[in-house]
Amino acid sequence: MIIESSRRPEEAALREVVAAGDYYLGKVNAGQYFRILDLEGNQAADTLFFNADNPGERYSATDTIREQGNVYLTAGSVLRSNDNRPMLEIVADTCGRHDTLGGACATESNTVRYDLEKRCMHACRDSWMLAIAERPEFALSKRDITHNINFFMNVPVTEAGGLTFADGISGAGKYVELRAEMDVLVLISNCPQLNNPCNAYNPTPIEFLVWEA
Ligand SMILES: [Zn+2]
Repeated sequence: MIIESSRRPEEAALREVVAAGDYYLGKVNAGQYFRILDLEGNQAADTLFFNADNPGERYSATDTIREQGNVYLTAGSVLRSNDNRPMLEIVADTCGRHDTLGGACATESNTVRYDLEKRCMHACRDSWMLAIAERPEFALSKRDITHNINFFMNVPVTEAGGLTFADGISGAGKYVELRAEMDVLVLISNCPQLNNPCNAYNPTPIEFLVWEA
């Protein structure tokens, strides 16, 4: 569902460009709004959310899908935790659909899906692991790396229930905007994948913006 936001970038309290292959890790307080902006188009932003006060409570794809009765995320989707509590709501979306089924890329899955020699290629899981190692103040650990959302990634489900990683439906300047329902940690891997079309084989930067409540 396409819903545009009235929030203006020049009024944002925080604006940070995240380079292709880099990560973003930060806290967003309850009531604040944030936007993930696809600067050049067709870029996947692999994202994890945690309760900032208790990272053991985190985004749950299964709870979110069950409660909304739909596998795609878009404006109106309430993102739920593994305690089935609302963590965030998508309040604006100019892309139209986001994936939460495909999972994030890892060196292991790259070798299974593509080739053994892909083992050394940079993957989202590496970026998350680097983030939790470089930012110990957030007290995240390897076991916190679980379900994720692939903002802007196009994973259509076939009539038979099959998953395909298809060419993206996002474009330059498209964005998704969320309101935090609790204090959350946001961990984004700006996906470096080069073996499937989630980034159009050309990873590009995104921008992360936060507005006060
Ligand atoms: Zn990735």
